[in-house]
Amino acid sequence: MATFLFDKIIFGPVHSRRMGVSLGVNLLPKTIKYCNYNCIYCECGFTPESTKNIIEELPTRTEIRETLIEWFQTTHTTPDALTFAGNGEPTIHPNFAEIIDDVIDIRNTYCPNAEIVVLTNATMMHKEKIMKALHKVDRCMFKLDSAIDVSRNSINQPGTEHSLSYFINHMSKFEGKRIIQTLFIKGIHEGQEFDNTTDEEIDALISAYKHIHPHEVIVYSTQRDTPIDSIEQISQETLLQIAEKIKQSGIPVSVSS
Ligand code: SF4
Repeated sequence: MATFLFDKIIFGPVHSRRMGVSLGVNLLPKTIKYCNYNCIYCECGFTPESTKNIIEELPTRTEIRETLIEWFQTTHTTPDALTFAGNGEPTIHPNFAEIIDDVIDIRNTYCPNAEIVVLTNATMMHKEKIMKALHKVDRCMFKLDSAIDVSRNSINQPGTEHSLSYFINHMSKFEGKRIIQTLFIKGIHEGQEFDNTTDEEIDALISAYKHIHPHEVIVYSTQRDTPIDSIEQISQETLLQIAEKIKQSGIPVSVSS
């Protein structure tokens, strides 16, 4: 199925119910996805097997800073949020921490009321420099699709040996505004079946949420094209039932359509 890559460093702004007018910042290459996960539903497609030359294709700190300043000086627009997202995992950019400092400076100059938001799979939070940088932003949106290792391995196909509890612990240590995003999905890939909508999965997720103490959990399902067609989108009705169960455990939750 057709997948999609952002071909710019800055994209949007787009209007979102949650963040208002949000300007996207893509720290990853414009022609290839770069991520330490390989989610079977990733709208950017599958992660290439070799990432040998990808570092050379990453936008530099200077390029990112200049592009963002130029955007503000030419559009005279004041977004409500500057959102780090794009063609992969932003925290794996080697200058992520310095770029956060630059973007904070730019925000303070051109749109002091805007929030800085990072969408992340939380896999780099064990690095002190990354944790420190994330603590400077207004909101982190962490991906947590399953709290069971075997399911997470099927759904997110992580390029790491660490167990889930390792990452869940790091998310729980984050002191800023914690939002958890959980995508529900079922299907089969390379003979491996997955379904994170079962009672066992929901119970495990609720235990993980209770450990992390998120300000909010957002549940959703696939909304755009995915790299494989053997994925079943979860109905809104099922998402609402899952949300109700999470809510009953005392965790603030919303369903994103
Ligand atoms: S973490 Fe995000 S960018 Fe990385 S593979 Fe998963 S959906 Fe794609």
